[in-house]
Amino acid sequence: MRAVAIEANVTDNEPDGTRIVSVPLSDRPLAPVTRARIRNLRMHLVESLRAMRVMKHPERNVSPVRAEPDGVAGLVARTACSLCRGSCCKGGGEHAYLDERTMARVRQARPDLEAGAIIGLYVSCVPRVAYRDSCVFHGAEGCTLDRALRSDICNNYFCSALGRFVTYPEAPEGVVVIARADGKMRRSGKLGAATKG
Ligand code: SF4
Ligand code: SF4
Repeated sequence: MRAVAIEANVTDNEPDGTRIVSVPLSDRPLAPVTRARIRNLRMHLVESLRAMRVMKHPERNVSPVRAEPDGVAGLVARTACSLCRGSCCKGGGEHAYLDERTMARVRQARPDLEAGAIIGLYVSCVPRVAYRDSCVFHGAEGCTLDRALRSDICNNYFCSALGRFVTYPEAPEGVVVIARADGKMRRSGKLGAATKG
C-alpha cells in the first residue's frame, strides 16, 4: 500500500481521485461491566423518566429516530466507525446521552411498557464486557443499543472528517477510510465509487 500523508480528522484526495476519510482510532481494552455501572445507568434512566413525566408537550418533543445515511455514505460511515471502534463513545459513560426526549420516543413507540419495563429493556442491552472508560453500551462489536433506543446525539453524530464526507455533495471515485492514533493505523479497502447516497 502506498503511504498517505494525512492528518487525523482531515479529508483529502489521493492523486487518482480516491477520497481519504481519516478518523480516530480507539485502542481501549474491554472490561466486564460492573454492577456499579449498571446501578448508575438505572439511576440515570429513573431521572430521565421523571423528567419525561414533567415535560411540556411530550408529543411535540419526542426525539425522532434518524435513519443512517444510505448508499456509499452509509457504507463509509459503518466502515469508519467499525475501524475506529467508537472513539466518540467515550463520553457516554453510564448515561449514553439518554434523556427525557429519548424516553418519550420509547414510550410513544411502546405504550405498553411502564417505567420499570423501559429500564429493564435498557439494562438488558448492556453487554457483558464493554470498552473501558467508554459508554456502558460500547461492546466489542460496537453499540449494543438499537437505533430506536439510542439518543438523538448518538444517532446523528459524525466526527469531523466523516461528517464532511457524509454531507459532501459530489460523488467520489472511491473512498478509503483510515483510522489512526498514537502511531497505530487501520485502513479499509477501496469502497464504492461514483454513487453516494
Ligand atoms: S463517528 Fe465516532 S465512531 Fe465513527 S469514526 Fe467518528 S469518532 Fe469513530
Ligand atoms: S449509546 Fe451507543 S452510540 Fe451512544 S455513546 Fe453509547 S455506545 Fe456510543
